[in-house]
Amino acid sequence: MNQSKTLLNPDVIIVGAGVAGIYMLHKLRKMGLVTVVIEKSDELGGTWNWNRYPGARCDIPSLEYSYQFDENLQQDWNWSEKYSAQPEILEYLNHVADRFELRKDISFEEEVLEAQFNEELSLWDIKTNKEVYQSKFCIFATGCLSVPNKPDIEGLEGFEGQLLSTSYWPREEVDLSNKNVAIIGTGSSSIQTIPEIAKEVKNLYVFQRTPNYSIPSNNGPMDKEIEADIKSRYAEFRKENWSNGFGIAGIADEALIAESDIDEVNNQLEENWKNNGLGFFGGYADVPVDANSNEVAASFVRNKIKEIVKDPETADKLSPKYHIGGKRLCVDTGYFETFNRENVHLIDLHSSPITRIGESSIEADLEYDIDTLILATGFDAMTGALTSLDIVGRNGIILRDQWKKGAKSYLGLGVSNFPNLFTITGPGSPSVLSNMMPSIEQHVNWIADCIGWMIDNNKSVIESSLSAEEEWM
Ligand code: NAP
Repeated sequence: MNQSKTLLNPDVIIVGAGVAGIYMLHKLRKMGLVTVVIEKSDELGGTWNWNRYPGARCDIPSLEYSYQFDENLQQDWNWSEKYSAQPEILEYLNHVADRFELRKDISFEEEVLEAQFNEELSLWDIKTNKEVYQSKFCIFATGCLSVPNKPDIEGLEGFEGQLLSTSYWPREEVDLSNKNVAIIGTGSSSIQTIPEIAKEVKNLYVFQRTPNYSIPSNNGPMDKEIEADIKSRYAEFRKENWSNGFGIAGIADEALIAESDIDEVNNQLEENWKNNGLGFFGGYADVPVDANSNEVAASFVRNKIKEIVKDPETADKLSPKYHIGGKRLCVDTGYFETFNRENVHLIDLHSSPITRIGESSIEADLEYDIDTLILATGFDAMTGALTSLDIVGRNGIILRDQWKKGAKSYLGLGVSNFPNLFTITGPGSPSVLSNMMPSIEQHVNWIADCIGWMIDNNKSVIESSLSAEEEWM
C-alpha cells in the first residue's frame, strides 16, 4: 500500500494472535500491506494458548477443525486423534506461524489500552502498554470467549487455598493428587475437565447451577483410512461442509422427526449418539423448532444419563429439563460415567446455592473443606474483549456505550460509527454456534477482499450504516 510505512505507522493493526489473527496477518501480508499483530500473551494461539485445563480438546473433528486456506498445509499436517487435544492444536498453530513466517510481525506481551478513530486523518490511533501506533485499518481478532467471568460470590477474594480457572490454567503441571477440590460451573470446559481430574483428586465437589446436554465424543486415534480418504478430496470435503448450516460434515439433513417412524428415529439417534458428537440431532430439521420433536431428542439423552449414572437422584440432577439445542451441546469423554466414582459429589445449586466461600471451604447445603477451588464459570462472552477497553469511534462515541442496550453490528464484521474497524466473528455472526475455523476463514477472506477493493478503488473509509445493522440484527 505504502512503501514508506513503518511498524509504528502500519497499514493495518490486528489485535490478537489467535486462529483469526494469524491467518489475517498472512492474508494481508500477501497483499503487500504493512501489518502488525499485537498480542497480550508471550505466545500465540488465543483460546488454545490460554485454555490449558486438563482434558481441553476441540469438539469438532480435527480434519475439519483446521485451516483450509493452503492445500499443502492441510496435506502435510497429521492429527493424532479424531478430536485433538489442546497441546496438539497449539503445536499446529505454532507450525502455521513458523511455516508462513508470521512471528516476525507479531508483537508479544503487548496490550492495546485504547483505540481511537482520528476523524481528521481517517486513521486509527492505537495506544498500547508499550507504543503508540497510527494505522488506516484496525482489526479486532480478539475472540468470542477470551475475557474470563469471575463469579461474584461472597468470600472468594479471601480464599487462601489454590485458586484455578479453566480459562487461565497454569502452564506448569498442576498436582491435584490427594486434594479436596471444588469446581464451580458445568459448561463445556468443566465437562472436559471433570473426568480428567476426578482420577487424581481425593474428593471432587461439583457445584452445578444448570446441567448440560452432553454427547460422548467417542474420541480415539485418527482412523488412517478416513484421513486418507478425506485428504484425497479435501477441497470437495470442505465444500460439502461449507454448504451445511454449521460448517460441520453431515449436520444438515432435512428429515423431520414429526414425520418419521419413532423406532427409526431412535435407531438414528442411537447411531448419532455413538458417532456424531455435536451433530447428535443435526439430522433432524425440526428439533430446534418443534417442541414435540425436541422432546424426542431431549428425552433420548435424559434416558442415556439414567442408564449411565447409577444413583437415580444424581442422574436426575444431571439431566437438563430445558429444550435440547437451546444451549450449544457439549461433547465429552466419560463425563456422566465420572459421577459413578465414589470420590465425585454433585451439589445442585438450585436447591442449595453457594452462600459463602471461606478461607479453606465452600458453603452450600453443607460446608465443604477444600484445598483447591476451580472456577469453570465461563466468559464475558462475545463482547467482553471489545468492551473492556476504550474503542472510540466518530464523535467520541465509545463502543461500550453504543452497545449498552445490546451489541449491534453488520454481519458481525463492522459497527456503525467505527469506520475502518473490523471484527472477526464479532457479535451478530454465527461464530461459536458454528465450526469456528471456516467461520474465521470466511471473515478473514471477506475483510481482505474488502480492503483490497478499497485500495483498488481509491476509497479511504468504509463504515456500516445503522440501517444495515438494524436490518441484519
Ligand atoms: P460456560 O459454558 O459459560 O459455562 C459456565 C458455567 O459456569 C455454567 O455452568 C454456569 O452456570 C456456571 N456459572 C457461571 N457463574 C456462576 C455462578 N456465579 N455460580 C455458579 N455457577 C456459575 O463456559 P465454558 O464451559 O468455559 O464454555 C464456554 C464456551 O466455550 C462453550 O459454550 C463452548 O462454545 C466453548 N468451549 C468449547 C470447547 C470445545 O470446543 N471443546 C471446550 C470448552 C469451551 P449457568 O449455565 O447456570 O449459567
